[in-house]
Amino acid sequence: MTRHLDSRSLKVPVAGLMKKLFTRERFGAELDVGLGESGLYERSERGGLKIDLWLESSPDGIRVKGTLRGSMTLECTRCLEEYRQELDIRVDEFYRRPGIGAVSPEGRPLPREMEIPEEDEYLIEEETIDLNVLVNDAVILNLPIKHLCSPECRGLCPHCGANLNRGDCGCRVEYIDPRLEVLRKLLDEEA
Ligand SMILES: [Zn+2]
Ligand SMILES: [Zn+2]
Repeated sequence: MTRHLDSRSLKVPVAGLMKKLFTRERFGAELDVGLGESGLYERSERGGLKIDLWLESSPDGIRVKGTLRGSMTLECTRCLEEYRQELDIRVDEFYRRPGIGAVSPEGRPLPREMEIPEEDEYLIEEETIDLNVLVNDAVILNLPIKHLCSPECRGLCPHCGANLNRGDCGCRVEYIDPRLEVLRKLLDEEA
C-alpha cells in the first residue's frame, strides 16, 4: 500500500498574509505520523509530532521558520516492533510565489547558477502553502540512518523468529569458527 502525508490541516491558506507584506502568522498543528513506503503518513487523530511554525510574507513568497518536535512511530529494523522515535528539527524554508525568480530563505534573489530546479522548490499554489511536503522532507532528512527501538535491541531469532528482547527462545545457535570452517573445507577436498 502506498501511503504519503496528505493532511488537510497542513494545507494553509495564505491569501491574507500575502496581501499584508512583511507580516507574520503563527501556524501550529499536531500529527501522529508513521513512515510508509513513499514517505510519512498520518496514522491517527492522536498527536505526537508538534509543528510550530512562523509564516512571514515578502514580495517573493513566504518564509517558513520554526520547529518540528515530539515523536513519531517507526518500525525497528532488527525486531520489527513499532517504537517512538524522538524528533527535534529546525525548519527554515521558502515558499516561492509562482512567476518570481529563485530566492534564498531570507527572500533575496539567488544568482542564476544557484537557482534550484523548480521541482525541488516549494511553491505557493492557489494561494495555499502545502506544508505536507515540507514536514515530510524535513523529518525524513533528520531520521537516524538505523531505525532501532534501542541500541541494545537483540532482534529476532534467525531460527524461530521470536523477539529476543522478550527473553530467550531456547533455540540452539550453532557458531562455527570461520577459521575452523576453512580447515574443514580443506579436509573435505582432500578426502
Ligand atoms: Zn528492536
Ligand atoms: Zn528461536
